[in-house]
Amino acid sequence: MKFVGAHVSASGGVENAPINAHNIGAKAFALFTKNQKQWFAKPLTEDNINGFRENCEKYGYGPEHIMPHDSYLINLGNPDPEKRKLSRNSFLDEMRRCELLGIQLLNFHPGAHLKQISEDECLDLIAESVNIVLDKTKGVTAVIENTAGQGSNVGYKFEHLAHIIDKVEDQSRIGVCLDTCHTYSAGYDIKTEDGYKKTFEEFEKIVGFKYLKGIHLNDTKKEFGSRVDRHDSIGKGLLGEDIFRRLMNDSRFDNMPIILETPDDSLWEAEIKWLYSLVVD
Ligand SMILES: [Zn+2]
Ligand SMILES: [Zn+2]
Repeated sequence: MKFVGAHVSASGGVENAPINAHNIGAKAFALFTKNQKQWFAKPLTEDNINGFRENCEKYGYGPEHIMPHDSYLINLGNPDPEKRKLSRNSFLDEMRRCELLGIQLLNFHPGAHLKQISEDECLDLIAESVNIVLDKTKGVTAVIENTAGQGSNVGYKFEHLAHIIDKVEDQSRIGVCLDTCHTYSAGYDIKTEDGYKKTFEEFEKIVGFKYLKGIHLNDTKKEFGSRVDRHDSIGKGLLGEDIFRRLMNDSRFDNMPIILETPDDSLWEAEIKWLYSLVVD
């Protein structure tokens, strides 16, 4: 069974996210547990926490179908020790917010080397950051998102994801999220039937589906291999329809959050409906 939803607004309090998800017919959702443009935020209140838990139960969202996204400011591979420390503390704060909300997954962009260190050194620093944060938390899995490889971002090759996983001590709490826009922009041809097959065979070989915890389902405005991250609404970008039909009928993507991060939120409800219409039983 597929659990498709979107990255919904948590404005006015995290407890509103499950309501917003329910209103668009989502079976899964993502959210920011705080303002994504700030390093730290005021702590969650009892009302936030209880309201979130109650609304999730009311609308039938289990912890396995909720995957928040961390702040865009965080760079766990930052070469500068002071800035890296700030990122680690901010990420730790986000993991703790998930703990309080009963959320088991936290999606993060791996990081960027800022042209000051090598990709491998950056990946080592990211793994070290994850180890430090996992050590101080319980029950929440850190979910690395693959990237388009824009700028100096690492994580655009499956080998990068495997590199981080390999150096994480508690491998029961590290996972991966694949973004369809990023995958294509990074140079994996998921658009064609043959390319789709090969890409996920390679993913299985290098990373392993056992680490796959979620999907970001986006179309793309930028051409194959562009290394540029520009999401488009489903069916409006360069990916075409077939990739979405294949994915919606591929049991390897069952029982995990499949999250739209498409630019026009007024289309989310229709996009979710259309995706479910592709399922052949
Ligand atoms: Zn994404
Ligand atoms: Zn993106």
